This record gives sequence, C-alpha cells and structure tokens, in this order.
Amino acid sequence: MNWKPIIGITVAHYTEELRTFPREYYVEMIRKAGGIPFLIPIVHTLEEASEVLQHIDGFLLTGGGDISPLYLGEHPLYGIGDCFPERDQSEILLTRSAILQGIPLLGICRGIQVLAVAAGGKIYQDISRQYPGALQHAQTAPRNHVWHEIRIMDSKLADILGEQRILVNSLHHQAVSEIPEGFSKSAMAPDGIIEGIEKSGAKFCLGLQWHPEAMPNDRHSMDIFNAFIKACQGESS
Ligand code: MN
Repeated sequence: MNWKPIIGITVAHYTEELRTFPREYYVEMIRKAGGIPFLIPIVHTLEEASEVLQHIDGFLLTGGGDISPLYLGEHPLYGIGDCFPERDQSEILLTRSAILQGIPLLGICRGIQVLAVAAGGKIYQDISRQYPGALQHAQTAPRNHVWHEIRIMDSKLADILGEQRILVNSLHHQAVSEIPEGFSKSAMAPDGIIEGIEKSGAKFCLGLQWHPEAMPNDRHSMDIFNAFIKACQGESS
C-alpha cells in the first residue's frame, strides 16, 4: 500500500516561552517507516482531543518529563523530576480519546506511563526509591546504544519482533507499577521492571519503556515502527 498515514505526535510544551517540540528522532522514524509526521499542540478538553484525532490515522506518545503526582492521585515523593501539568492533562485526554476511537497508538518511554495512567494504572514516581534492587535504568551511554536485556512475553510485541529476548536502551527513572485493566505485560527487564504493556484485543495499542526511535539502525526498532505504520494503514502486522 502506498498511501502515507498521518501520525499525530505529542510534543514537549513550555507555556512561558511557547516552545513546542518533540525530539527529531520521532519525526524522522515516522518518516522512515512511511508515515507523515504531524505535531499535536496541547489540548484542554476531551472534545478538543477528539476533534484533533479525527484528522490522524495513528497516535504517537513521545518521551519527556515526569507526570505530575496530581494526575497520579498521589503526594509528591523525593525523586520526582520536572513536571509540566498542561502536557500531562493534554496527553491523558488524547490517550483516552484515542483508545475510545480505536486509533492505533504507540507510547514510548513517558508514553507508556501516560498510557498506563490514562487507562487507570499506576507508575513509580522514582524507581530507585520505590523499587529496591532495580537496575540502573538511566543509562550512562548515549541513547542510540543498547543498555539492558528485556524478556518478551506472548503478545503482539512478540509477534512483531519474533524474539523472546532483545537488548534495548534505557533512559527512564519512572516505570509502570500497576497495569491497567484490559492491558497485559508484554516485556520485562531482568529486575522485574515492566518494559512493555499492550491493550488486549486492540488493533494496535502498545506502550514501550525504551526508545526504539533513537536506534533507527536497529532491526527490532524498525520492525516496531513498520508494524505501527501498517496498523495505521488498516493492515494487521
Ligand atoms: Mn529500562
């Protein structure tokens, strides 16, 4: 199929300076996989989210800062990083709307956490303080290098990758702690930290804790984006 699906990409947002951008990796990876990147501004209501999503074929939740404890229903703990509540609210609204509309969704790093929270799950505010014995998930190598192994469960992700174990990069200090109802775990790090979730029965609704977009020369990373774009074209992977 030749037509290029339009992929809505969420962005970092700084209200005072009005700087709105995603890392270039996401945009380039969507292009490389055959999609048209389309940056989504902050939305404020479910209605605005629904209107925006009517114009796109797929939805990509990008990495970024921490989700405000406000949206976790928790008090802030030591170890929480920079929060941008407008972005949190916007991405939660867009995610809920995308799930309702059945729009293919890929959530990366912060994106898996937004997906989990929007669907009713929970996250650790800081792995090192809330999960004793965790690996160092904030890698000290450049982001295009792999850092730790993950084990892949029976899942759509396993179907896409055709592997039970792969090496991934790791640039996070938060992680999913409770998987939302209707979702299942698709990947796990050696310390038990969740590295992948997906919505059961959905056409394509995947959250990944690592950054495949930053490794365009890695076969597995490309397989994930190619499968996402295919799903956005209405094909099954
Ligand atoms: Mn990790």
